[in-house]
Amino acid sequence: MHKYEKIEKIGEGTYGTVFKAKNQETLDIVALKRVRLDDDDEGVPSSALREICLLKELKHKNIVRLHDVLHSERKITLVFEYCDQDLKKYFDTCGGEIDQLVVKSFMYQLLKGLSYCHSHNILHRDLKPQNLLINKNGELKLADFGLARAFGIPVRCYSAEVVTLWYRPPDVLFGAKLYSTSIDTWSAGCIFAELSNAGVPLFPGNDVDDQLKRIFKLLGTPTEHTWPGITKLPDYKPFPLYPANPLWYHVVPKLSAEGRDLLRKLVVVIPNHRMLADEALRHEYFYGFTPP
Ligand code: AMP
Repeated sequence: MHKYEKIEKIGEGTYGTVFKAKNQETLDIVALKRVRLDDDDEGVPSSALREICLLKELKHKNIVRLHDVLHSERKITLVFEYCDQDLKKYFDTCGGEIDQLVVKSFMYQLLKGLSYCHSHNILHRDLKPQNLLINKNGELKLADFGLARAFGIPVRCYSAEVVTLWYRPPDVLFGAKLYSTSIDTWSAGCIFAELSNAGVPLFPGNDVDDQLKRIFKLLGTPTEHTWPGITKLPDYKPFPLYPANPLWYHVVPKLSAEGRDLLRKLVVVIPNHRMLADEALRHEYFYGFTPP
């Protein structure tokens, strides 16, 4: 631990406190994430350590680099590449305006990072604007990749803030336990709409019921006929049969027709009909786009 000198506390995340720190040997600035483990008596589970060590191998410019893992018997500290701010804070300061080219660039980078991790069989499972980090030069990087698998997604954050449901797909809200890459592409779609609307979330539900209702009011309520197996999901319950709302122009008025088409292919209720991240990168919305 002496290798890193803490400079200041940056925030409270899902898993614990995050500090800005300096590597005393290289003078590099890093982010230290001290993970608080639920079950302190048991020490650091070896399964979590194994998972975390795999994440050190993820090397991509759109993934926050995990430089080091430090652990004692009771706690684990992850040493990450430092980024200037997160997308949630960016929304707070953008004054309700984001250039549609910036939207495209952030979305492209988000899908690039996602596609890289998915090709390594690693899911995020909890993508949201708070864990999309951005740098002054417009680079976007995904943070907390793989942590949900290592540590589980807690119901409350370290700071007692309730974990947001806004980016969760309907299958997960109905209690599906078999996760696939489609969990992340749903979240990416929600974030796409939020980017295009300069920080106005697509489905800001208050609880699981309200979350599902908001989703079905836009996309239509699925049935056993349209989504075979839905009624067998652990927490399934019937909802009023809302028809799909075709007026996407009103949902994301600033997004181009190509952008709206991509969004509609990401936020698809039936999980295996959702577009994959690498397919999304080839969508015509990105034609002619030069990545940063
Ligand atoms: P998280 O646990 O990722 O939700 O982190 C909580 C907050 O700490 C985030 O909202 C970020 O603002 C900040 N943070 C997390 N990771 C980093 C990082 N690598 N560099 C800079 N800030 C970070």
